Amino acid sequence: MGKPAEKKRFYSEGLHFECTGCGACCKLGGGFVYPSLEDVGFSARHLELSVNAFTETYMELHKGQYVFKNDGDNCIFYGQNGCNIYEARPTQCRTFPFWKDNLKSHYRWKIIEEECEGIGKGKLFSYNEIEAIKNQSSQTPSGPEPSSIPQTDSDPV
Ligand code: SF4
Ligand code: SF4
Repeated sequence: MGKPAEKKRFYSEGLHFECTGCGACCKLGGGFVYPSLEDVGFSARHLELSVNAFTETYMELHKGQYVFKNDGDNCIFYGQNGCNIYEARPTQCRTFPFWKDNLKSHYRWKIIEEECEGIGKGKLFSYNEIEAIKNQSSQTPSGPEPSSIPQTDSDPV
């Protein structure tokens, strides 16, 4: 007997996405960004700062985890022209919207589509490309969940 057929994912034919730089995702979940140590080093080098100087200037503790400071709405790096460290933004930001939880079901993807105007535009990301980005994103300690997404284990598909 062969292997049971894998359940077809809603993005098996790929998904279109192109970031417009609108910045809406910089506010999701209160604008909290949880960078990994590698991310911090990358962003610090980009700003020509030591990791210590970067941490003291741009980071703070939130519920026991280091996050980028924010003004209660936006991440500190969000400026008039979008992200001020765009080339060195952390994994959480680089992998949005292809986060594991956003791809959990078509239902969740449709909700995130309401937040992100780049979804459905531009480049067609293949299933394999999406999976690669998704697996990268799951390595971030804890990307925030958009608060608008109900927390259930059994979403409609
Ligand atoms: S919400 Fe979507 S389109 Fe807007 S900046 Fe974020 S990823 Fe880009
Ligand atoms: S680091 Fe840049 S892309 Fe990430 S939330 Fe902050 S402003 Fe947005």
